[in-house]
Amino acid sequence: MMFGGMVMHLASFGDAEMQVRYSMASAFLLAVSTFSLPFTLQEATRYMLGFALVTLVIGLWPNPIAPEMLAQHIVMLALIGGGTWSLLHRIRGYNAQSFLYELRERCSREGLEEHNRLLRELSDRAPLPGLPYRRRFERAFGELTAHAQGQGEEQGREWSGAALIMIDLDHFKTLNDTHGHVVGDECLRLVAAALETQAGHTNGVCARFGGEEFVVASCHRSFDEAAAYAESIRESVAQITVPSRRLGHAKVTASLGVAFAPLERAEDYMTLVEFADEALYCAKEGGRNRAEFI
Ligand code: GH3
Ligand code: MG
Ligand code: MG
Repeated sequence: MMFGGMVMHLASFGDAEMQVRYSMASAFLLAVSTFSLPFTLQEATRYMLGFALVTLVIGLWPNPIAPEMLAQHIVMLALIGGGTWSLLHRIRGYNAQSFLYELRERCSREGLEEHNRLLRELSDRAPLPGLPYRRRFERAFGELTAHAQGQGEEQGREWSGAALIMIDLDHFKTLNDTHGHVVGDECLRLVAAALETQAGHTNGVCARFGGEEFVVASCHRSFDEAAAYAESIRESVAQITVPSRRLGHAKVTASLGVAFAPLERAEDYMTLVEFADEALYCAKEGGRNRAEFI
């Protein structure tokens, strides 16, 4: 801007030809400086207007140039400045577009990585027919309690609360070591089938939580009903007999940790899981093949 002003000041002392040249030089200066400075479009607009104003003021004062020369200078600035501005506008547009493309590509790449991680996690575990994993279970649990709350309000059914039951097979490592992993896998399938049948009795949901850990959730009219339900699950696992080539058959038992909460507080899924885990720990400590409650 200062250079532009100086150029115009010098021009005011020269003849007409020199004034034209200097006016062109200041317009050229405007174009080059607008491109080379790191302006946003808004800043560039302000800069160009400021530049034009400074050169015009200096063209009028202290040594005024001829009005036709001043008009020529204004036209020059308008042409070169306008061209520069529209070029800059286009370049900034392309930059923004390519930034958005890059961002979109990065997001989809990150999304794919997350999906791959999930697939890896799922494929690392042996599938059990019919049983979802915990991620789907969490959603199903939310739906179960919401549905029960809806039933309570609309149909007057008196659900007292929801039970979340963590089930861990007892000494399962020993079963694997004694009968082999093929028998272990078959045992997991039979347990899964038994739990699914049990969950079906109460319209509950069940899932495989980890290796030999399962989780069942259901709504009950009372704590006693939930306790009896947990007991029936424990019994159904204890009744399982797994064919074994080494020793004829294998037996399995399970320890259960039951967290029972009023429906309105059952939405806090993670707290229920924590409580059930604690109860399960007590069941293991208490001798296994039993259910403990919180
Ligand atoms: P506890 O009564 O204290 O629960 O003892 P545990 O042996 O059941 O517990 P631990 O955590 O020591 O061992 C769990 C075992 O479960 C070890 C692992 O090999 C086995 N396991 C986990 N997932 C699978 C599976 O998909 N198939 C088979 N066959 N075994 C599995
Ligand atoms: Mg375990
Ligand atoms: Mg176990």
